[in-house]
Amino acid sequence: MPSAENPVSSGFNLDDAIRKVPDFPKPGILFYDITSVIANPDAFRYCVESMARLYRSERIDAVAAIESRGFLFAAPFCERLGIPLLLVRKKGKLPGKTIGRKYALEYGEAEIEMHVDDIPVGGRVLIIDDLIATGGTVCATAELLRAGGAEPVGVFAVIGLPFLDYTACLGDLPVTTLIEYFGE
Ligand code: AMP
Repeated sequence: MPSAENPVSSGFNLDDAIRKVPDFPKPGILFYDITSVIANPDAFRYCVESMARLYRSERIDAVAAIESRGFLFAAPFCERLGIPLLLVRKKGKLPGKTIGRKYALEYGEAEIEMHVDDIPVGGRVLIIDDLIATGGTVCATAELLRAGGAEPVGVFAVIGLPFLDYTACLGDLPVTTLIEYFGE
C-alpha cells in the first residue's frame, strides 16, 4: 500500500485549510475540523486527487466509509475510481440485514453496523475516515469486514494523530494519511 504524502512538499498546504478548535468537544481536546476543508474547493479537490493518486494502481474491491465525515471523502473517491462504496453506520440506521460490532469508547461503548449483503466475500476492502485518533472505530470496522468474509487491506484518513497510538490495535494493516499532528 502507498505511504503518506507530505502535503506541503506536494504543493498544497493542507494544514492551513484545517480549522483547529481547542477544548472541543471537551476541555483538553484539540479538535481538527474538516468542515473548513470541504468548504474550500481547492483543499477538498487536493484531498480527493491525492487519494485517487495514492490508490489508482491498487486492487481495491470496495471501500468501507465510516459515519459520517468519512462519507464525505469516500464518496468522491469511489465515484472517481469506480469502486463500490459501503457505509459503516451507527446501530439502527441501516434498513437492510446487518452485522454489527461493539467497541469501547473513552466512556462507555458504541456499536457500528454494515449491510451484510454488500460486503464482498473474499474482496479487498479499503477503510476510509476523516481522521484516525485511537484507531478504535477503524479497528471495529476491520473486525466487522473480516466477520463478513472480506479482507481489510488498508486504512486511509485525511488526518492522523499517531501520538494516540492507533497502530496498537491495527497490527500490520497499513495506514495512509495526508497530514499528521503530534500533539493536542
Ligand atoms: P478513534 O476511534 O479514536 O480513531 O476516533 C476516530 C473518530 O473520532 C474519527 O471519526 C474522528 O472524526 C473523531 N475524532 C477523534 N479525535 C478527534 C480530534 N482530535 N479532532 C477531530 N475529530 C476527532
